[in-house]
Amino acid sequence: MTDSHCHVAGTAGRHFICSPSAVPYGLPGCVRFFGCHPWTPEEFDEEELRRLLLEHPDAGVGEIGLDRLKKREIAPLEREVFERQLAIAAEFHRPVVLHGAKCWGETLKACKPYKGVIPAFLFHGFSRSTGLIPEIKDLGGFISIGPAVANAHAVNYMRMAAEIPSDMLLVETDRTPESPLDLPDIAQITARLAELRRTTAAELDAILDSNASRFVSSLLA
Ligand SMILES: [Zn+2]
Repeated sequence: MTDSHCHVAGTAGRHFICSPSAVPYGLPGCVRFFGCHPWTPEEFDEEELRRLLLEHPDAGVGEIGLDRLKKREIAPLEREVFERQLAIAAEFHRPVVLHGAKCWGETLKACKPYKGVIPAFLFHGFSRSTGLIPEIKDLGGFISIGPAVANAHAVNYMRMAAEIPSDMLLVETDRTPESPLDLPDIAQITARLAELRRTTAAELDAILDSNASRFVSSLLA
């Protein structure tokens, strides 16, 4: 089992953790991602990011991106910080975890010049933009399905989760220290997703684990 995007480690399996300030180093199964979230572009410290990536050759870059969830306009600084971090991920040859709430098209467009240069892209929290899936696939991107899949009212999300090509599929909790205790865990998300995709949880889990290994393969080589 692999939680492909979270901010704190859960109990079982592997965890790909973004901005892991509170997670001790060397925790088995934890892969770290360092980066500046689009909600706080003013906190970006390029030297610090470079230092962390040099110090940790097994770390990726994330979560980085653009956001229209909290406001309608994307500030110039937010774009600039995203562009800088993509360039750094390319320079260090690290996989990236992307945030693109309500602006997935723009986020994807910024990534396209890095096709084949940044080793892997994870579109985390992806929703509503199913028309982009072929282009994300062409980029070599992965899409992770989150706890919303367990929400019986999220009809469009469930449909999307059922249709994403198997070889680009991952699952995530996006768990933070503030998450509710009843947030579905990776086993529950996988079980629900398996139902939607008319397969077994065990079969799906094997696919998800192999995809997750491919996503971070450049770090483990
Ligand atoms: Zn997150």
